[in-house]
Order: sequence, then C-alpha cells, then structure tokens
Amino acid sequence: MSEPKALAEGQTAEGGCLCGAIRYTIQGPSAFVKQCCCKDCQKATGTGHTTIIGIHRRQLDMRGTPKTYTNHGDTGGSVTRHFCGECGGRLYTSGDLPGDIVIMQAGSLDDPGIVSPESVIYMKDAAPWDRFDPDLPKFEALQPRS
Ligand SMILES: [Zn+2]
Ligand SMILES: [Zn+2]
Repeated sequence: MSEPKALAEGQTAEGGCLCGAIRYTIQGPSAFVKQCCCKDCQKATGTGHTTIIGIHRRQLDMRGTPKTYTNHGDTGGSVTRHFCGECGGRLYTSGDLPGDIVIMQAGSLDDPGIVSPESVIYMKDAAPWDRFDPDLPKFEALQPRS
C-alpha cells in the first residue's frame, strides 16, 4: 500500500488552471486528502471521481479571479465551485464547511503527486467502471468525523 501523503506543515505547492490565467499557492498542513465519487463531482468534472485537498481559506493565495457556480450539496449546505472562465479548469470549492475549510482540486496542482488520498467517499455514487486503491478505507457517503 502506498502511504497517504498530506501537505506537511510549512510545505507550499503551486497550481493553476489549464490556460494559466489563474494561479495559486497553497500552504500546508492539509486537513485531509480524499477521493470523492459523488454525483455532483462527477457532473462538475466529467470524470468518475475527483481528488480533493482540504485546507483553511487563509492557506490559499489565489492570483486571478475564478468564475463561480453555487448549488446545494447532499447535506443541504451551499457549495460554490471556483473555475477558470476561460478554459473551464476547476480550482477549488468553498461552502458552509466547518473551520472555514476550502477544498482544492488536487488535479489542478502543478505536481499532483505531492499528495495522495487517505480515503474514498460517496462510494454509493461511484461509476461501476471506476477503480480505487483496494487498501484505502471507503465510505458510502461522508466520512464520519473522528
Ligand atoms: Zn484557465
Ligand atoms: Zn463530491
């Protein structure tokens, strides 16, 4: 099993959209790294699942102004997705999350390999052809807070 990799305390990482109009820097430590298979992630990314990194808003330095789209998530709270208006590249998600957490799209990092997921959530929505690391803990919906 490959060890889950978080963004460490003091570690920084660069990322941005496909066309480069929007760039950002995030600073560790990350709160979590997960793969989410929910229907909304599928529709928003056009893929089977998305890999997300939770950080506090103050740990995100965004350069450029993303477009946003807001809807309501599974638990009823508002969810706002931030993406480049030029190329459509997804950057991060914000919403009614505890601790002022924002959720970065790991695939928008210049080097997505600096993190790896610790668990898979919303397995109930997973596409039958999607494949996951068999060693990762999996949850039908949200992961219960420990
Ligand atoms: Zn762009
Ligand atoms: Zn999701």
